[in-house]
Amino acid sequence: EMFGQLTSGLESAWNKLKGEEVLTKENIVEPMRDIRRALLEADVSLPVVRRFIQDVSDQAVGTALIRGVRPDQQLVKIVSDELVKLMGGEVSELVFSKTKPSVILLAGLQGVGKTTVSAKLALYLKKLGKSCMLIAGDVYRPAAIDQLVILGERVVGVPVYAAGTDVKPAEIARQGLAEARKKNVDVVIMDTAGRLQIDTAMMGELKDVKKVLNPTEVLLVVDAMTGQEAAALVTTFNVEIGITGAILTKLDGDSRGGAALSVKEVSGKPIKLVGRGERMEDLEPFYPDRMAGRILGMGDVLSFVEKAKEVMQQEEAEDLQKKIMSAKFDFNDFLKQTRAVAQMGSMSRVIGMIPGMGKVSPAQIREAEKNVQLMESMIEVMTPEEREKPELLAESPERRKRIARESGKTEQQVSQLIAQIFQMRARMKKLMGIMEGGSLPTMSN
Ligand code: GDP
Repeated sequence: EMFGQLTSGLESAWNKLKGEEVLTKENIVEPMRDIRRALLEADVSLPVVRRFIQDVSDQAVGTALIRGVRPDQQLVKIVSDELVKLMGGEVSELVFSKTKPSVILLAGLQGVGKTTVSAKLALYLKKLGKSCMLIAGDVYRPAAIDQLVILGERVVGVPVYAAGTDVKPAEIARQGLAEARKKNVDVVIMDTAGRLQIDTAMMGELKDVKKVLNPTEVLLVVDAMTGQEAAALVTTFNVEIGITGAILTKLDGDSRGGAALSVKEVSGKPIKLVGRGERMEDLEPFYPDRMAGRILGMGDVLSFVEKAKEVMQQEEAEDLQKKIMSAKFDFNDFLKQTRAVAQMGSMSRVIGMIPGMGKVSPAQIREAEKNVQLMESMIEVMTPEEREKPELLAESPERRKRIARESGKTEQQVSQLIAQIFQMRARMKKLMGIMEGGSLPTMSN
């Protein structure tokens, strides 16, 4: 299982919060220690871990608990959000130039999967409807050139420009680019030589190639198994030759996660694509949110917290408290509030997870949903004025008749709706009386 150790390390953090009511400075100490240990064992670089722990701690203590969400669930959500942020937030798309061809230059150390990635990338772009051409620039390994020709031409079905091993990479780049222009392809991908280690000759060659190609993307291919070393490499290559991002390979192996989590934060450059196997199809965009989801392995909890937050935000937006103060609760508010309750219906799948919500049966939720539909149909045919001033309807049988007629409901149903809103207002007035000095109860439980 990918990142298995990291996942189980984090799990012990959540478990320490079971039975807690809130998140405090004190009760997150132990869980944060677990998270820290899990990240370090996953080979995330120390400065990154430190900052991460600080950010998560600040948020855990500084954020009010979302109503209905347990402290351990909320911590999972905070960690997830921070992991996504750490990995760059949004997916980082490949950039193409306005004029043909767009050029992608690939660099990387030997054995990281660069040649394989070249062909994979060509297939990936082909599937996006772009015509491609490969340039074989790994002049120090004749086998790499053969490999690229075979993968490119026979397996993936794109032309490969090769000029043997006696020509300088920059010259191969120049010839290859001319060929690509002739062929009028959309994208050119150039594979370059990898060394066992970074050396000045390698960097010099890359700089020369880059000058010739003027690429829209310079992508460093790094091996996920090397952990935080991958992040250091990305930094070095960026400083030396200027790159636009990284491709992380071998994410299917038992990599511990350090590379995926460190590259963006350490180097400032995003991971754009990931290799997840030896097949040509195994290359895909790097989605920080999905990656965080895989690491945490808690999709259910995350979507539950997300939903609970939505419901709460909606209620907040209604600014009900202000309405209560001014006793101006009208049909618009009525509708919004009832919709919020009905929205809980979509949560019925996870309803058992909400403390204190066990009492709400699925039947009750269905009832609430049906109620919204009924009310909506009547409120819809009201004039804006009628919605804001229910009095108008209480005073005028003609208006009530019109609403019944236009909504296809009975006059009795219309009267019931009007009675309901006045009951609501009365209840709120009473509530106001209970409260001293106009202070309001908080929305959380
Ligand atoms: P290069 O020296 O950087 O050009 O590396 P190669 O492309 O020759 O790849 C080295 C080895 O890694 C080959 O055996 C590839 O099949 C393997 N490889 C490349 N990418 C992946 C990947 O995403 N997952 C796995 N499991 N193996 C990979």
